[in-house]
Amino acid sequence: QADIAMYHTKDSGRNNYHFFNEKMHERVQDRLNILSYLYEGLSQRQFELFYQPKIDLESGRVIGAEALIRWHHPTRGLIAPAEFIGVAEQSGLIEEMGSWAMEEACRYCKQCLDLGLVDSGFTMAVNISPVQFARGSITKVVSDALKKSGLDADQLELELTESLLIDNSTSIKRALLQLRRMGVELAIDDFGTGYSNLGYLKAFEVSVLKIDRSFISRILEAEQSRILVEAIIQVASRLNIKVVAEGVENQKMAEALSMLGCDQAQGYYWSRPLNAMKFEKFMRNHQRDIRRNGGVPTLRA
Ligand code: C2E
Ligand code: MG
Ligand code: MG
Ligand code: MG
Repeated sequence: QADIAMYHTKDSGRNNYHFFNEKMHERVQDRLNILSYLYEGLSQRQFELFYQPKIDLESGRVIGAEALIRWHHPTRGLIAPAEFIGVAEQSGLIEEMGSWAMEEACRYCKQCLDLGLVDSGFTMAVNISPVQFARGSITKVVSDALKKSGLDADQLELELTESLLIDNSTSIKRALLQLRRMGVELAIDDFGTGYSNLGYLKAFEVSVLKIDRSFISRILEAEQSRILVEAIIQVASRLNIKVVAEGVENQKMAEALSMLGCDQAQGYYWSRPLNAMKFEKFMRNHQRDIRRNGGVPTLRA
């Protein structure tokens, strides 16, 4: 409660107050409401990670998963991250939330390994907010989570934003290289929506590039999107950077991407993000499928 009051004073301090019109004031109030619920939610364990399988397009096998946060609000039900990540970032709460997600994702990946649901080639991808880099705690958060879970660093992949690479500050650069030295894979999420280029990727030792869904969704209809995606894939492959397509929703898209030489993909075509129980079921079905088909999965969920 004290924290909320503090943020309130900061946001609408007397000097700034006259700049707010009614609408803005309402928005601030909305944010404060969400923020107070977020604090409560974290302490009462209302957050959960869902996992979306990542598929190797050549073999059709699941080679990883992306952890995606969900919030079970006691009265509002399941809330998607778009509704609260922004508020968490602006308030600084993202650090606590991010640490929790990192620890939980590593723990869960280790559990899946121990259950034999995944092998040592499987990677767990965790989304990182640029704010988590700002205060320099990210390297400790990652190393603590790895140590606590016993997960190998090379099974962890961090999904970063393009803005992080552009913000070229030395502390960010240092943190990224330190993470690489720890053996963690670095991926750029939503590639193509920001202003970074492939040159940045090499400089920061990024090893995975995720092409944004907005390009992938147009790949069948728009010649321009297809040409762009093809060019990204070609340059990335020559730089030894793996390419992942996000938001693949049907077989035609999967086939087109495979033809263009895209390495990996994820999307509703194979599976939506799943809670732990459903993810385990998905992996068991997948393993059975591979056994039945002489080592080759049928590619459908
Ligand atoms: P993202 O990292 O780009 O994640 C991909 C989003 O696309 C997810 O939305 C996923 O559910 C959705 N998606 C996957 N396949 C398909 C598809 O075939 N079609 C369509 N239409 N959508 C698909 P979600 O889970 O709502 O997450 C939204 C964003 O919230 C994420 O985008 C990520 O930026 C952020 N986020 C999620 N979890 C975390 C987290 O733990 N920490 C941080 N900092 N951000 C997170
Ligand atoms: Mg992501
Ligand atoms: Mg993405
Ligand atoms: Mg995206």
